[in-house]
Amino acid sequence: MAMRGTNGAEDASKTWRLQASDLVWLACPVCRMKLEVYDTEGVRCTGCRRVFPIVDGLLVLLADRATLTSESD
Ligand SMILES: [Zn+2]
Repeated sequence: MAMRGTNGAEDASKTWRLQASDLVWLACPVCRMKLEVYDTEGVRCTGCRRVFPIVDGLLVLLADRATLTSESD
C-alpha cells in the first residue's frame, strides 16, 4: 500500500474508480497543490501540471512517475 489510509474498512483493491471527490484529500507530492481527474489512467496536478498515473487501480503519487504536461486550461 503506497497511500496512508485513515481507516481499513474499505475494499478498494478491485472495483475502485477514481472520482473527483476522492481527490479533495490528496495533494501533489511536488508542489502540494490540488489534483484533478485527467483521464481514466491518471490525475493531474492543478499547480505544476504533472500527471500521475493510475496503475492497477492505484494512484501512484510519486514525482518520478509523473508526466509533465505543457497544456494550460
Ligand atoms: Zn504539483
